[in-house]
Amino acid sequence: MPSFDPTLILVVMIFAGYLVFGKIMEARKERRAELLPKQPICGCTDHLAFHNPATGRCEAQRREVVHWIRNPELDEWLKDDTRLESDRPKQYVAAEWELRQCACQRYTGPEPLGTLFAPELSTDHVERPRPVDPPREALGYQ
Ligand SMILES: [Zn+2]
Repeated sequence: MPSFDPTLILVVMIFAGYLVFGKIMEARKERRAELLPKQPICGCTDHLAFHNPATGRCEAQRREVVHWIRNPELDEWLKDDTRLESDRPKQYVAAEWELRQCACQRYTGPEPLGTLFAPELSTDHVERPRPVDPPREALGYQ
């Protein structure tokens, strides 16, 4: 019978436990995500509340860059002899923004359940006196 190093067995058991624990945590995370109410988010990434119910247009505003400038940090980085490629700054940076309305024409996300309206219960029908039958003579009986 082959003998195994106890350390190897321990390492294999820890690795197996790590895999099983990972699967359990992944399943819990998925279950929790299913329990949370799904948000009505449109394809334009804006909430249903931003969409006009009559026209369907999205009325959310976004900050969009309208002017880019060359990044001054890039020149500093290029002068540095000890520079690392991983620290390379972006070539351009935003200098000016403008608020623009979202161009979305129609909500495409999940539809929320309709709101139910239930009138307040009253006891009017119980307290109201019953209609009185007309006199028998009025109906033509003798
Ligand atoms: Zn939008």
